[in-house]
Amino acid sequence: MTLILCLFTIAISLLLSSTPVSAHFFPNITSIPPLLNATNGPWDSFRNFSGFHAGDKSDGLSKLKHYLQHFGYITNSTSNYTDDYFDDALKAAIETYQKNFNLNVTGELDPQTVQQIVRSRCGVPDIVNGSTTMNSGKKTSSSNSTHFHTVSHYSFFPGTPRWPNSKRNLTYAFLPENQLSNDVKTVFSRAFNRWSMVTALTFTQTESFNDADIQIAFFVGDHWDGEPFDGLLGTLAHAFSPTNGRLHLDGDESWVVSGDITTSSSTSAVDLESVTVHEIGHILGLGHSSVENAIMYPTISSRTRKVELANDDILGIQELYGANPAYNGSSTTPEAQNEGGTDYGAAQKLGSPLDLKFAVGIGLLLLFL
Ligand SMILES: [Zn+2]
Ligand SMILES: [Zn+2]
Repeated sequence: MTLILCLFTIAISLLLSSTPVSAHFFPNITSIPPLLNATNGPWDSFRNFSGFHAGDKSDGLSKLKHYLQHFGYITNSTSNYTDDYFDDALKAAIETYQKNFNLNVTGELDPQTVQQIVRSRCGVPDIVNGSTTMNSGKKTSSSNSTHFHTVSHYSFFPGTPRWPNSKRNLTYAFLPENQLSNDVKTVFSRAFNRWSMVTALTFTQTESFNDADIQIAFFVGDHWDGEPFDGLLGTLAHAFSPTNGRLHLDGDESWVVSGDITTSSSTSAVDLESVTVHEIGHILGLGHSSVENAIMYPTISSRTRKVELANDDILGIQELYGANPAYNGSSTTPEAQNEGGTDYGAAQKLGSPLDLKFAVGIGLLLLFL
């Protein structure tokens, strides 16, 4: 009886504590309020460490270690990543990071390295379970070179998971509680087209979120998959390897749906299609690439549009699924752009979610009815 009462209490508290999912969409660059223009990303404090090297100590260095641990550069066994010492493990992590991002391998927090670290990026780690096929996982042609030259290429998740042969037409759906407008949904459709043009996969939107192969959702903060979002900039989105299908975007970003984002005066404006094309790559089985112009490169600055699949991306996806017979090797741009967009005025705020907490709460509550 006590156990039932306890479960009932948990069910009620989960229902009551369910946080709303909201996302900010801006139909064009002039509709972003000036207030958001001065916002810095969550990693901006790392700029204070510019010039630091092994042996240094500074308050907040543990936060940088956490960052590197999160993206796979420090394993829990190699370093105490909760202290503020610039130890050998941190130096090794920075060297690996520098290789992956085509920087001079100095092991120090030189300005170029810091500049790269603070860029907004995808939340998927560069190194998964200690293995990577970004630069640091490849053999160098000249071992005494301090600058790593990228020859290739794309990468896959460990074990090369992919959608099975029986699944060549994948369905996708949007979390109903996000109440996305047709303009926003069109951005996703364009992003999927970029991949289906080059490979033997097709994508079809379906209304049933739970039955869809690919489930797209905007969440704010912690959303119960162990990968909480971090507010404006920082981590922009993440997605899971096949055949999980979950594609999550940070509802706190200033998502720009159309228009020339490069001319935006807002330092926080993020191009929705650019990030979506990247995350679909993960959904299909691609990991991060060290090739800077590849869609699967891990970072993307705000006010940047990057939607064209690079040769690196195309070779990677075709290795997994084969080529689209209709693909002739030319541009992948389905440029039915909706440049300029319509002026809706202020940001569109979205309604309440049915997030995991809510679902668990409902489930538990049903036990008692
Ligand atoms: Zn990514
Ligand atoms: Zn998530």
